[in-house]
Amino acid sequence: MKFKTIFGLSTVLILAQALLIPSSYAQGKQKETISLLFVGDVVLDGPAGKRIEDGGDPFLGVSKLFKQADIRIANLECVIANLGEAADKNFTFRAHPRTIPVLAKYVDAISIANNHSGDFGPKAFSEMLDLLNQQKLAYFGGGHNLKQAHTPLIISKHGYRIALLGYNEFMPRSFEASHELAGTAWSEDEHVIADIKAAKQVYGADFVIPFMHWGWENEMKAGPRQRQLARIMIDAGADAVIGGHPHVIQDTEEYKGKPIIYSLGNFMIELMDNPAQSRGWALRLQLNRDGVSAWDTQVVNLDELGLPHTSAEPSACWNKQKGLKKDCRPITQ
Ligand SMILES: [Zn+2]
Repeated sequence: MKFKTIFGLSTVLILAQALLIPSSYAQGKQKETISLLFVGDVVLDGPAGKRIEDGGDPFLGVSKLFKQADIRIANLECVIANLGEAADKNFTFRAHPRTIPVLAKYVDAISIANNHSGDFGPKAFSEMLDLLNQQKLAYFGGGHNLKQAHTPLIISKHGYRIALLGYNEFMPRSFEASHELAGTAWSEDEHVIADIKAAKQVYGADFVIPFMHWGWENEMKAGPRQRQLARIMIDAGADAVIGGHPHVIQDTEEYKGKPIIYSLGNFMIELMDNPAQSRGWALRLQLNRDGVSAWDTQVVNLDELGLPHTSAEPSACWNKQKGLKKDCRPITQ
């Protein structure tokens, strides 16, 4: 009897405590710091797709990397589908649906906002969304219509709610979603500002991180438009801005104490036309209750098939107190 009374009392106390804790703290095991890993362009067409078709794994050279963070994110620079017709453009990439389980072994979410996810039209894009939903691989930056494409992906982990938004601003704009057609999110300034504010105010995100597809190919430094939009996003409430598309690593900045990493470069892609394109960055952000406290990087070298391998090369890192350092220990060392 005595035991029962004590048990009853402690249950009431635990429930009362839970009610006093803000909702975002109440989810699962709370951690002081949470880490997010971002990698650049991943194309699962070509040799990577062939490797998977043959029963192999194109991620083997970087498998250790994906164990180093709580949430892992990539830009999927192709469509995954059976349907559709190739668009009239220089390069079109479509990967087989068998690639999804392999990708899902390594990443928790993908951005589909880029200049290749629409290569086989809205039907193929729509099929990809259904396949990703079936296989529970989360995505952002695209949807069955314009509203969905601009809806943040909320990931709740270790007591934090993180909103991911993806935008493409590299032509063709015809891949953009419409009110009726599936497609990507395009980065009109006003729309981006509204999305970032909604992520915090409507979706209750603790942190908002836009993953951009922008800039000019092979430019080693970010251009004026990237710098302008990054500032607009941070002014609107973004906690960090990450980018890709130029196929090379670009410079980084800090604005109002928030980091901007303009381009991660390539991660898994066959077509490379200069040596800088065969070197990409994996980026790891560390977040605590005050936002991004630090980031570090891992150089990834792409082989002749465009498959990634981690390098021992020292690489850039940053923290809020000490700022940028050029030669830090790579993530996997
Ligand atoms: Zn691109």
